[in-house]
Amino acid sequence: WGPDDEDEQRRRGASGPVRVRVPAKVNLHLGVGPLRPDGYHELNTVYHAISIHDELTARRGDTLTLTMEGEGAGELALDDTNLAIRAARALAGYAGVPPHARLHLRKQIPLAGGLAGGSADAAAALVACDALWGTGLSRDELARIAADLGSDVPFLIHGGTALGTGRGESVSPVLARPTTWHWVVAVADAGLSTPVAYRELDRLREAGAAGEPLGSTDALFAALRQRDPRVLAAALGNDLQDAALAMRPSLAGTLKAGEAAGALAGIVSGSGPTCVFLAADAADAERIAVELTSADVCREARTAHGPVPGARIV
Ligand code: ATP
Repeated sequence: WGPDDEDEQRRRGASGPVRVRVPAKVNLHLGVGPLRPDGYHELNTVYHAISIHDELTARRGDTLTLTMEGEGAGELALDDTNLAIRAARALAGYAGVPPHARLHLRKQIPLAGGLAGGSADAAAALVACDALWGTGLSRDELARIAADLGSDVPFLIHGGTALGTGRGESVSPVLARPTTWHWVVAVADAGLSTPVAYRELDRLREAGAAGEPLGSTDALFAALRQRDPRVLAAALGNDLQDAALAMRPSLAGTLKAGEAAGALAGIVSGSGPTCVFLAADAADAERIAVELTSADVCREARTAHGPVPGARIV
């Protein structure tokens, strides 16, 4: 099953099920600029796709339906508000085809965790339905539909490590020699709302209580090129971290516990509450995950590596 087979399937449409795997993201650098007149903040971010995946299967059907299992099952609405359904409808509208499919989601990305799980499912639905319906859109066309669905969705089509600008929807891949980075992902008991975290940051900034904004991504890009996890650790940063810590003070204890367990650095992922830790290597990551789990500072600690590809047919 190679790229040629995938292209062929996308041109003809699929009769059988199409299965798509899509990763979670972390932000190695999340610089939050001023609030724009449209209500979004201007972002300067470096996205990084990691090996925690959701899987979406699309089958032929007479209507559009969604079922799910895994993280968030029983909590997440499966109706027209779900990003997977919204993505399928947006693609059908763009391509002028009926939005008929039976979608099934196997979720491993925690809900409202700052790992862009909902955006990942939207990206997966675009790639899966494009193949199921034979609409054969280019990755760039899919990315344009993706941008209307959410700021992180275009990145999750591409994957890898990439610079995100605008409100995050404008994505350019980072060209660096391939290096695998090893992470520990500390999943919290309950989620945090992304819009509320941005409002909290605005409030902290108005009160003069937020840290200095991160500024340029130059140091981060230089660190990626050096391929040394100690150098990358020193360059990680997230302007939303103060807001997440103000909303969930216990995260300070999680970050401390990871560093005490030997992580090179720990940051809040996106708007939180997931904390991610950079480890020196895979064995260290395993050890830190075990220690974090027994320290009782998170629901669960998982290891992951990155970068990994974006939404792909498997
Ligand atoms: P981000 O980092 O992109 O801000 P997040 O990881 O914090 O997102 P998500 O899990 O993507 O949070 O979802 C946030 C909200 O989006 C959920 O609480 C839910 O209301 C809504 N949502 C809609 N569809 C989905 C989906 N398929 N998976 C998860 N959340 C969804």
